[in-house]
Amino acid sequence: MSGVPCRLTEAVVLDLWERGLAEVPAARRLLLAAAAAPTGQGAADLPLGTLNSLLLELRCAAFGDALPCAADCPACGESLDVTVTAAELLPPPSGGADDTDAAAEPTTGSLTALGATVTFRAITARDAAAVDPASPGARQTLLRRCVVDVSPPADLPDEVLEEVARRLADLDPGADPLLPLDCPFCHHRWTASLDVAEHLWTDVSGCARRILHEVHALARAYGWSEADVLSVSPVRRRFYLEVSAG
Ligand SMILES: [Zn+2]
Repeated sequence: MSGVPCRLTEAVVLDLWERGLAEVPAARRLLLAAAAAPTGQGAADLPLGTLNSLLLELRCAAFGDALPCAADCPACGESLDVTVTAAELLPPPSGGADDTDAAAEPTTGSLTALGATVTFRAITARDAAAVDPASPGARQTLLRRCVVDVSPPADLPDEVLEEVARRLADLDPGADPLLPLDCPFCHHRWTASLDVAEHLWTDVSGCARRILHEVHALARAYGWSEADVLSVSPVRRRFYLEVSAG
């Protein structure tokens, strides 16, 4: 690899990969969130859309702006390989002032149902990691975590929670980035959601494996330790790999 700039250094990539390898996707998203946050903290509690923007920023700085994606056409079954840019995945900035400070975005929404005012906030990575998606009522449990107030207090039936879910899409439009797809074989058009954290995880995982393969090859060729290999810059490492292979 050609060197990982910014916060995703080789050491960070290897650490993330080692810690995330045995984890479920929601736990891996939490790991990546910590790496993506400018201060390393707090990203787990950001709205998922805001976190996705940070993850895309991290991904682009380390691996480039083009994200290759694979999808199967639901109409004809053909496999498609498409490449999207980070800009295509991000929701358009909200209109008005040119100040795009995330702090200016509304962080809660409210609706009135069954005579009660329901106040809710956007889903976070911590919420998603706290709910086992395979558990009974997982969707309702996740939505209930986002309800911060019901006034006067009342138990919320599922139909009100579903209304909260619909409003969440407006409150945090970047939480579930959608990819418009157009099948070149049968011309069917549809949208597929893209899990930004899992996409980044695939990149991190591939990068970690490439680094470890380089360690293996150079350790065997020169008798270097892992620390020796990692202390050599990627450009010099590639040179040594070429001459040791040739
Ligand atoms: Zn098709």
